[in-house]
Amino acid sequence: MRLASRMDGIGTETAFEAAARARGLEAQGVDVVHLEIGEPDFDTPANIRAAAKRALDDGKTHYAPFAGIPELRAAIAQDATARKGFAVTPEHVFVTVGGKGVMLYAIEAIVDAGDEVIVPDPGYPIYESLVRFMGGTPVPIPIRQANAFRLDVAELATLVTPRTRMIVLNSPANPSGGVLTRSDLEAVAALAQAHDLVVLADEIYGRILYEGEHVSITALPGMAERTVVLDGFSKTYAMTGWRLGYAIVPEWLAFAFGRLLINSVSCVSTFEQYGAVEALQGPQDAVDAMVAEFRARRDLVVDGLNAIPGIHCLRPSGAFYVFPDVSGTGLTGADFANRLLYEAGVSALAGTAFGGVSTGHIRLSYANSQANIRKALERIATFVGKVAVPA
Ligand code: PLP
Repeated sequence: MRLASRMDGIGTETAFEAAARARGLEAQGVDVVHLEIGEPDFDTPANIRAAAKRALDDGKTHYAPFAGIPELRAAIAQDATARKGFAVTPEHVFVTVGGKGVMLYAIEAIVDAGDEVIVPDPGYPIYESLVRFMGGTPVPIPIRQANAFRLDVAELATLVTPRTRMIVLNSPANPSGGVLTRSDLEAVAALAQAHDLVVLADEIYGRILYEGEHVSITALPGMAERTVVLDGFSKTYAMTGWRLGYAIVPEWLAFAFGRLLINSVSCVSTFEQYGAVEALQGPQDAVDAMVAEFRARRDLVVDGLNAIPGIHCLRPSGAFYVFPDVSGTGLTGADFANRLLYEAGVSALAGTAFGGVSTGHIRLSYANSQANIRKALERIATFVGKVAVPA
């Protein structure tokens, strides 16, 4: 039997495969520290869980409106207006299965065969995968440590062609933790307006920020009508398994989003949406506590890595990843990550899991306890001591 040719383009997310490999080793009795997985290790706060349980007991077990329950669309509009700096009304909000749902619908609705989409490299691998799946061409914009993991706006301008349809931004970023500045965003906005491009603004880590303010490109003049905002509950509220995200879309995209939701999932789990209302409208102290703990872990991991010869790690301003340059050890990022798992029991990802640019890097997620991070750092130091080829 034959698969549709569009399946040739589809990629994957290596984190899930790396986690499975690490669990395979654990099944053989090997002790592994998991620094490959991009999800908070905290449980969903109790008030959110209670609201979803109450909704279940109140009979919220039927289909919801395809775009989301009105209470949640209103809560998201209110929260986004306050935090993202532009006026959002509920008709522009669509509740999706994870933030990933937004990625899928935006790319399905906008990218035609032959269109070019500029994607960050390193970047979340699903952008590129979905663009190829739709018959489009992903065009990587290199994101370099030398530029504090921000894109170079002059270089971005050179990548725009008559076929460019969309630019994908992700700030704070996976895998680098880089954060775009207001002036970066202003330059991207000017480019998007000059060439009539759509921006997909992945702001899923917008609340996991250690310095400065989160700036949404949508708040810049003229951008709300050409930006799709991707956000959700997975990272901010430790709700990865709930699979709850949302889009804020311009008027011209609302019909398409509705159709794609109806054609794929009908609606998102109804009782969970009541939990999400509580997440947005209830106390936010659990979020503040998680971000404070992530900051302490960030400092622990950055200081620990920089004390190891051959490793150079920036201190990221957001998200919960570090993306150190390990090339000073004499290994590529891929060899380093692979050998680190088998020889030292630390599971990490190669930088090349996120594109072609970062051959000398690995990604570590610090969504793990400080005790486990300390254990991993000791193992990495011992491993580097054994394998490093002095420069
Ligand atoms: N965007 C980025 C940059 C991510 O890192 C992730 C998850 O790792 C997502 C989107 C998807 O989030 P969700 O789990 O809500 O689908």
